[in-house]
Amino acid sequence: MNAPVSVEILRQHLIDPEICIRCNTCEETCPVDAITHDGVNYVVKADVCNACMACVPPCPTGAIDNWRNVLKAEAYSIDEQFGWDELPTQNPTVGAPAAYATPAASTASAGVDALQAAATQIDGDAAPGSGSDLVRGATVPPWSAARPYVQLYTHKAPTTATVVGNYRLTDASTESDIHHIVLDFGTMPFPVLEGQSIGILPPGKSADGRTHHARQYSVASPRDGERPGYNNVSLTVKRVTRDYSGNATDGVCSNYLCDLKKGDVVSVIGPFGNTFLMPNHPNSHLLMICTGTGSAPMRAMTEYRRRRRLKGATGKLMLFFGARTQQELPYFGPLMNLPKDFIDTNLAFSRTPGQPKRYVQDAMRERAVDVAQLLKDGNTHIYVCGLKGMEDGVLQVLGEIAQAHGMAWDALWERLKREGRLHLETY
Ligand code: NAP
Repeated sequence: MNAPVSVEILRQHLIDPEICIRCNTCEETCPVDAITHDGVNYVVKADVCNACMACVPPCPTGAIDNWRNVLKAEAYSIDEQFGWDELPTQNPTVGAPAAYATPAASTASAGVDALQAAATQIDGDAAPGSGSDLVRGATVPPWSAARPYVQLYTHKAPTTATVVGNYRLTDASTESDIHHIVLDFGTMPFPVLEGQSIGILPPGKSADGRTHHARQYSVASPRDGERPGYNNVSLTVKRVTRDYSGNATDGVCSNYLCDLKKGDVVSVIGPFGNTFLMPNHPNSHLLMICTGTGSAPMRAMTEYRRRRRLKGATGKLMLFFGARTQQELPYFGPLMNLPKDFIDTNLAFSRTPGQPKRYVQDAMRERAVDVAQLLKDGNTHIYVCGLKGMEDGVLQVLGEIAQAHGMAWDALWERLKREGRLHLETY
């Protein structure tokens, strides 16, 4: 008669709207299509998510790694989540699922027993089952990477930076309007490493009256500043004039940034990113593959190595860089001025009039022998940044080259991930 009432408790996966920078990585990564978004928030469908964790390591901010224990019948719907400005607090009267090995849902007695477990298991702790086989790049940094600072500044407490430079990088005759923007933090600490990103909070509000969420940009300058010894960073920003479907649109933050004048002040959050970092041992090799503005972190790493070369870095640098045309390739001039014995640069242009379409993958195939040499070397670290679409093609060509040169790609791929030597950042 007085037996405990048994209720189903769900450890519900949620995304923190205050930290999320809406980069779409989680939605792209989710193998079961549990993540979706509207114009405001990214949300998780409680009835679809199986807590496989595949989306957690690639998230650049950690916004994805949030969990609340709820009664299964009262799970937050996606419509509720679309309306959130912040996450709800954990209801302390709902206990943790008893059987944690099946995180999606389980049965527990509603009552005091479950509360203690809940207290230690909510808020950001990793659920069992890493889903690592679903993650294509490393989730750990190179062993010799410097330790990054992350999230020193948040949506609730951003810092400011002053624009000290804003230059168009691409030929004025081209459609691609890409800018090199230098931001100075004055006396505010903003330590960044090559490969990290920062968030910019554009001013104003969206049509529905909400403040704009932050947009994320990779830092294009080395850790000691765009100008060595200065507290500044540079960004590579392309003015967005079309949405993903090709329809005309004005990107809120990219247009704001590209139109900034010297002396303007911007709100900044971050830094973000703790795995897409460069190795610091001097004999480490960098194999860098990028398209368009995905060149930002490669510029940062290359420039750091150029400055450090004078202090004894001996590893090789090999770069594959794709753009529509030479005139649309950011940093073309400075890149071409780098000594050939410092960096092995390979360009691929897809829309040069009268020439066949050429992607970075094609250039890699042409240089297969040298790429294979690097793949064989345990000091090689690979970085891929740019368009989402290039990821498949680049991984495929790496696999082809490895196999053709006597390396079992599946085993090598796993090793590269485990050792923090294959980093992917594509949007
Ligand atoms: P884009 O000009 O549209 O494209 C650059 C080149 O990539 C073009 O030659 C394009 O060829 C080619 N390409 C298209 N699909 C490809 C594929 N499947 N494999 C290989 N190459 C392919 O590039 P973008 O507008 O600069 O975009 C760069 C991307 O980097 C964006 O998605 C951006 O979000 C991302 N990103 C930017 C930053 C940053 O800090 N700004 C950082 C990280 C990532 P086609 O002629 O076929 O178009």
